[in-house]
Amino acid sequence: MGKESYDIIVIGAGFGGCSSAALLAKRGLKVLLIEKNANAGGKAMALSKNGFTYAAWVVVGAPVLENKHDIVLKELGMEDRSGLVAPGRSQGNIFISDSGEFKFLPDMEQFMDPEVMFEWLEVKPEEQEEAYRILTDISLMPPEEIAKLHDTSFDDFLSRYTVPSGLHAFLCSLLVDLLFVLPSDVCAASEAIVCMQDMFLRDGGLFHKGGFGALAEIYCDGVRENGGTVLMGTRTEKIIIEDGKVTGVQTEKGNFNAPIVISNAGIQPTALKLVGEEHFDKSYIAYIKDLVPSVALMGTRYFLNKPVAKEPFGVIFSTKSAWTTERFAKATRGETEKTGVIFYEVPSNYDPDAAPEGKQVFITSYWCPADPNTPPEEFEKWRKESESLVLEAFPELEDCIEDKDVFTAFDVSKETRDHVLPGQGGECIGLGQFLGQCGDSKPSVQAPVQGLFYVGCDAGGIGVGTQQAVDSGIKLADTVLTYYGMRAAT
Ligand SMILES: Cc1cc2nc3c(=O)[nH]c(=O)nc-3n(C[C@H](O)[C@H](O)[C@H](O)COP(=O)(O)OP(=O)(O)OC[C@H]3O[C@@H](n4cnc5c(N)ncnc54)[C@H](O)[C@@H]3O)c2cc1C
Repeated sequence: MGKESYDIIVIGAGFGGCSSAALLAKRGLKVLLIEKNANAGGKAMALSKNGFTYAAWVVVGAPVLENKHDIVLKELGMEDRSGLVAPGRSQGNIFISDSGEFKFLPDMEQFMDPEVMFEWLEVKPEEQEEAYRILTDISLMPPEEIAKLHDTSFDDFLSRYTVPSGLHAFLCSLLVDLLFVLPSDVCAASEAIVCMQDMFLRDGGLFHKGGFGALAEIYCDGVRENGGTVLMGTRTEKIIIEDGKVTGVQTEKGNFNAPIVISNAGIQPTALKLVGEEHFDKSYIAYIKDLVPSVALMGTRYFLNKPVAKEPFGVIFSTKSAWTTERFAKATRGETEKTGVIFYEVPSNYDPDAAPEGKQVFITSYWCPADPNTPPEEFEKWRKESESLVLEAFPELEDCIEDKDVFTAFDVSKETRDHVLPGQGGECIGLGQFLGQCGDSKPSVQAPVQGLFYVGCDAGGIGVGTQQAVDSGIKLADTVLTYYGMRAAT
């Protein structure tokens, strides 16, 4: 039997878990939030070392305006504690032209000024009318039209237009490859367009002082300050099911009782490992096993003895960098080059306190396979090819390195999601944007076991990365509150 009883237990203090836990505590429920790591934030956790503070990998948010964090912070009454900052117009995006020139995006008076963008992307004058049409259609598409694109890939959507190659690189490489970490031929156009509208109309580049994980810690305080309990450094080993209903969890620190368990540990690890196949119908297990996650990002944290980058973040890309499923599969098999889009972040260009005076931490991220069991020498091949492009863009970087840490999908899985199926564990986002897994086909937040729910980027939310996780947290808090009320009434 368990030692303590709660209304709700939330497994995992990623952004989906801690936002839903804080909202449910604020709404009066007795909440226990259990996290296996010492810190909150999951895939957006913050780290510190030798006077540097930073997210474990590149984590930049979008949109800036009307973002979901503000909704949660407002309900919690904690707006004044947030360290969210926007970069203003300052961005370090670099387009590598077909002639090999590394071209920084010029300063713009307004975000996404088409004239500046088209010149930068080398869109020819005769191509510009069509380029405007594409950007306008994406920016102004109403929700009912977007909803018709759940089963259309972003590539198929773009095939309706004659897309100039520079604009194609911008949309598929700079945006889809980085926002969803999925090739544009398997990324649902509906999800892509919603997120592009966020970027185009409500700006991008949001950062949190101390790294995004510091914001997750604020949500954990929201749980505590509303009467809930947060158990960090505690792995949930089992979700206890009796007579087809959730009754609590088993952890390394003992058992805890609750009639409702919300899991942020990922649908596949939750169903297959924490609950166990025997508690589900065979068809549900087959369905779970068939769900396809996003691809992964790996990269390097460079600790520099002097600043080398002026901007807070940027993307390095070319007309050849966009990933397709076929090119990624070939790159994984070693049949073609492993270089795609590269993302970099410089925390101290947002927040001077993020690095000791006169120093800089410079973080890179680029695609790699999501399987944490990928041999280290394979990850090393992805690193070598991608980092050579980083050094071309920032030639002075190499001479300023005091220290560096390489991270791969192995680290992402170790810190966040358990590996339970081939090709899964180190994924960057989750399950919710792959073609055929969106709209009405998006995995349900409610598991087919009474009292078990999922939260985070696998189910229920829409948006870019942490926004999607928090969107799922907000919506799930409503669903669970209704379920809790109905359960109490019957
Ligand atoms: C390399 C990388 C770069 C990224 N860059 C960006 C970016 O620039 N912008 C952006 O918006 N998003 C980015 N993301 C994505 C974003 O971080 C995620 O989409 C989001 O944070 C996922 O939140 P989540 O709630 O789904 O769950 P997760 O972050 O996966 O959190 C799950 C939590 O559950 C915990 N947990 C799991 N199992 C157990 C267990 N058995 N017991 C207890 N606790 C458990 C984990 O430790 C973790 O804290 C990036 C992700 C990665 C990996």
